[in-house]
Amino acid sequence: MHEQLTIQGVPVADIVAVHGSPTYVYDGEALTQQYQRLRDALPAAVDVFYSLKANPNVALTALLVRAGAGAEVSSLTELRTALRAGVDPADVIFLGPGKSDDELRECCELGVRAVVVESLPELARLDAVAGAAGRRQPVLLRVNPDFQVKGSGLTMGGKARQFGVDVDQAVAAGRAVGAHEWARVVGVHVYMGTRILAAEAVVENTERILALAERVAEACGIDLEVVDVGGGLGVPYFPKEDPLDLDVVGRGVRDAVERFRARHPRVRMILESGRYLVAECGTYVLGVRYVKESFGERFAVADGGTNHHMAAVGIGSVLKRNFPMGLVGRASTAPTAPWHLTGPLCTPADELGKNVDLPSDLRPGDLVGVFRSGAYGPTASPVHFLSHGYPAEVLVHDGEVHLVRHRDTPEDMLRQQVLPTILDPVTTDEGALL
Ligand SMILES: *Cc1c(COP(=O)(O)O)cnc(C)c1O
Repeated sequence: MHEQLTIQGVPVADIVAVHGSPTYVYDGEALTQQYQRLRDALPAAVDVFYSLKANPNVALTALLVRAGAGAEVSSLTELRTALRAGVDPADVIFLGPGKSDDELRECCELGVRAVVVESLPELARLDAVAGAAGRRQPVLLRVNPDFQVKGSGLTMGGKARQFGVDVDQAVAAGRAVGAHEWARVVGVHVYMGTRILAAEAVVENTERILALAERVAEACGIDLEVVDVGGGLGVPYFPKEDPLDLDVVGRGVRDAVERFRARHPRVRMILESGRYLVAECGTYVLGVRYVKESFGERFAVADGGTNHHMAAVGIGSVLKRNFPMGLVGRASTAPTAPWHLTGPLCTPADELGKNVDLPSDLRPGDLVGVFRSGAYGPTASPVHFLSHGYPAEVLVHDGEVHLVRHRDTPEDMLRQQVLPTILDPVTTDEGALL
């Protein structure tokens, strides 16, 4: 039994009738509610920063900024997106293992809340760039801890990694770290991993990161103002995964932060979150183009696939599991049958779902939604493969439908390519006519 999907009362079929498919549809209300739930669960000393990496759409970012989120960015475009979305530079942190001088300079000129440095050479570089700009720039030292988080889908630290400074190296570097004239180290950043669904793991992480920050600050002569405890809060995608228990997270983090602030009353914490904020508000809507059978198995060939949603193909696991999916454009009472949901790419890997339960009467023109798809969608996918380009993105906000990104056209796709005049059949022909 499938129902028609509506978002804030707007049928998805109506949205597709206007904006076409494949399209990412976002529910702005679901997004701000999710932010508010997290905000309410955390103590006031913790600031929530949105990681644009999860979904850099400027309209979604604007909704989160309006709701009170800061921005965690990792490229000039993400930085400018956040500013365009209305964020105050004082609520921006810039992070990433290979920052350019241009990025560092823009951070200093804007006076962002903090640049998160990922190596000691980068700290020296930033000191020079900030000095040249005549700006004292607050810095967080990203530390690669000597422990690992339990229950993370992807380990970002606690082993050999390109991120951050190993804790032993930071401690060995000692007071030199805190003694830079222009790059003013005001705190410590640790990011352990992503897709964490166990509340206890989030709490334990926070406790251990706070203890680590104290140890590093002591050794490095850092007058601690900020501890960024990372984040990596997960959302359930698959059967048998349970949502993160926010009450347990809230209580545990509150206790840890209170104990820490009893010793360091001025310190503020930052929690970064991408996936947790945006995943659930997004649905990737595909149009079925053909249905067919091959060797006795059903295929629904759709107008979009892994080129827009690579994450749906078994994130962080060798075992291929399906994202939640369903028929969204009409109701159906037909019994379900197993369908392989494939896309337009000329590779057998372009399969968004294997043996997905969809109505047996699935037909061309039907719309299928891949749910919980607001995070790590097209920007984390090979959108240029076979030159299909970026899908459209639509936001439903206050019951109104807004196009928030144009679908790439062939002209858009060709614009960045250059055909030397000597090879251009048009100019060559014109030349011949003269
Ligand atoms: C990717 C990343 C994030 C966002 O992670 P989510 O799991 O999407 O919340 C936050 N901080 C850092 C350092 C990251 O690399």
